[in-house]
Amino acid sequence: MRTKVIAGNWKMNKDLAETSSLINDLKAKIGTGLGGVEVVICPPFTSLALASELLKGSPIKLGAQNMYYEDEGAFTGEISPKMLKSAGCTYVILGHSERRQIFGETNELINTKAKKALAAGLLPIICVGETLDEREKNITDQVITAQIKNVLKEIPAADLEKIIIAYEPVWAIGTGRNATPQQAEDVHRHIRKLIGQLYNWTVAEKLVIQYGGSVKPDNAAELLKQPDIDGALVGGACLKADSFHLIIDAANVV
Ligand code: PEP
Repeated sequence: MRTKVIAGNWKMNKDLAETSSLINDLKAKIGTGLGGVEVVICPPFTSLALASELLKGSPIKLGAQNMYYEDEGAFTGEISPKMLKSAGCTYVILGHSERRQIFGETNELINTKAKKALAAGLLPIICVGETLDEREKNITDQVITAQIKNVLKEIPAADLEKIIIAYEPVWAIGTGRNATPQQAEDVHRHIRKLIGQLYNWTVAEKLVIQYGGSVKPDNAAELLKQPDIDGALVGGACLKADSFHLIIDAANVV
């Protein structure tokens, strides 16, 4: 049995006052018990230290949305793995489609970041996903295969249990149009089989694969019920304690 992981990607939302109020609302809803579900919130860099303070004593884990791969130096505007650790992060999202599309991140760069994150003791949530054009051309599996092979290059089997793969079809992110549970399950199954081939079946069976793309309280349960969907990476619906809490609840029930 894999632990379900529900992560909230706040993207470029919430100033410090809004961070406090969302975390306090969430803590009040969740209390001390998350059941068997791992819950992660990923606020913007500016809110991480405050979030870490507010989460003391709470089972909710903290993650960042991105990082650079050097420890320190002349990299204006960047944040290092070491800084994320010292700000209280356990997780870091890497290769989100907005990073790939808006900021030109490549699989090679994401691979370098993943190796550095692991070396620093951070747990990477690595995003992959096809565009609408690629889905319509029926090349989803090929696209996902190439992304996975390249982002995991030279990462040893022993590190796979520290990695989460988030399957996020680009056409489903922020659009209100989620993949159907079957469409998502098909790609998750493909990813698990691929990991079985690249590593071995023991590693593949342990790998946590999240689905992301317009996950909401009303579709979460159906998605999370699929045998290869082990959690969700949530954008819009994590910005309100009510809706994020309902998704966590859905993961606890299935
Ligand atoms: C995301 O940003 O990773 C995401 C899945 O966003 P949304 O849930 O808003 O589609």
